[in-house]
Amino acid sequence: MSNETSRREFLGTLAAVSLFPFEQEKPDLILHNANIFTVNSKEPRAQAVAIARDRFFAVGSNADVLNLAGAGVRKLDLGGKTVLPGFIDAHSHPAAAGLSHLRMVDCDLRSISAILAAMRERAAKTPGGDWVLGFKYDDTKTDDGRPLSIGDLDAAIPDHPVHIQHRGGHTVYANSLAFRKAGIDDKTPDPPGGQIAHDPATGKLTGRVAESAQAFFNKVIPENFTRDDHREGVKLISKMLAKTGITSATEAQGSPEDLRAYQDARDSGDLLYRAYCFINFHYLDAMIEAGVRTGLGDEWVRVGAVKLVCDGSISERTARLSKPYEGSPNDFGILVMTEDELYTHGRKAHLAGWQIGTHANGDVGIDTTIRVYERLQKESPRTDPRFRLEHCTVVNDDLIARIKALGAIPTPFSTYVYYHGEKMRYYGAERLNHMFALRSFLDAGIRATQASDYPPGEFIPMMALQSEVTRTDRKGTVWGPKQKITVEEAIRVGTINGAYASYEENLKGSIEAGKLADLVVLARDPLKENPSTLVNIPVERTMAGGRWTFES
Ligand SMILES: [Zn+2]
Repeated sequence: MSNETSRREFLGTLAAVSLFPFEQEKPDLILHNANIFTVNSKEPRAQAVAIARDRFFAVGSNADVLNLAGAGVRKLDLGGKTVLPGFIDAHSHPAAAGLSHLRMVDCDLRSISAILAAMRERAAKTPGGDWVLGFKYDDTKTDDGRPLSIGDLDAAIPDHPVHIQHRGGHTVYANSLAFRKAGIDDKTPDPPGGQIAHDPATGKLTGRVAESAQAFFNKVIPENFTRDDHREGVKLISKMLAKTGITSATEAQGSPEDLRAYQDARDSGDLLYRAYCFINFHYLDAMIEAGVRTGLGDEWVRVGAVKLVCDGSISERTARLSKPYEGSPNDFGILVMTEDELYTHGRKAHLAGWQIGTHANGDVGIDTTIRVYERLQKESPRTDPRFRLEHCTVVNDDLIARIKALGAIPTPFSTYVYYHGEKMRYYGAERLNHMFALRSFLDAGIRATQASDYPPGEFIPMMALQSEVTRTDRKGTVWGPKQKITVEEAIRVGTINGAYASYEENLKGSIEAGKLADLVVLARDPLKENPSTLVNIPVERTMAGGRWTFES
């Protein structure tokens, strides 16, 4: 505190002589005796950094930086530990996940019986007739070899409507009471862009619904979150992300509530990562009318791209593919929006100066989305639109050439090969060489990012590095070895490329003087680590804007 005061006084005396107090200031903190990988090609390695307020003040050798230390400067000897720029998760759903962690049962469990037990426990504490909600269920991660059924849920929890989201977010599982409340019976037809699953033998509901059919439930599940709940959700997830070295994240499906929650959490000191808050296209008209566009905000909370969705999901096998899923010759996945709809919303956003981020996973979905972007640029060229392809999972040479020509940004899943290895067989070995295609992107000069898509994927940056470098799952199976990248490349993908994706490459993403003081201190050097143990490297500290957001 005394340091604060003296600095303010110091600044006060300078105010009269300079419009650029930052250049005149002395550092508050010096981190020295560190192994710093800066991601700044002009000065790739350093031993020490000086920090003034929320920015890097100087980067260099121990001697040079310590030389700047005046009276009252705090010094921290990092004992040779490795320092990287803070990680940027370029596509995730942290605000929504935070709320889910507050309110729902975490169903990331390894058997149906364990999931039912957890849901039953919650039901016992819930008044009869009220909803019991679960999330992060994964049909491929239980030992049972079959998905949850309506019968399982009816037997375990008969007196409450039960609704469990798949961790992918594109399918849900419900009991009979929930289906009745949602107005769905055996005869209800599939809505456009959605599926209500039936037992092929009996025609009865199986308990699973997919994509737009989830709306039946969303209409009847009470959304009784208070403004405070939203802020608490951001607070909770902030701590989870900071612990892993994340200092920035894109909120990939943002609503006005999310935007408000981020501002509330920033103002109360609870926001520990910088949020680039996408806005769901449903709110685009209202946002444009209010004069809002991409980039509005500050270094902590900024309005991001408008979010459109072209096709389904990889983890739940609804992405729209040109060749069918392995073992399901008639299953090509789902297109959620038509090309016309994407164009209509996209045009409105493009003309109003918004960045566009379209969810596109399968090669057909990506082709459709790129065609829309190409048309927008042809009809109304903008100098630097930075079109984003959210996920951009299954690609080919033609798509890569068009992504490069457009200057578009893919945000492929970073941890899927490692964490979701059991799902890779649905795509087959050959197709995997064209999925999460970082090698192809980087070779073509495309600035792809690190992206977890949490909750669907795990957000741990060290897991992302391992997954991208080894292309190996937890059981040791290699998927798509042609797409391996180096550790150094993976670090750039997870830092400076993420900054570029939000137009902030001059503000963050590397450790250089003048940039925001966002960094992570690791217990071991990932560049010297055995690639198959990268995930085990402990994060010791995380800093965002000169403040420690996590200390082990
Ligand atoms: Zn997403």
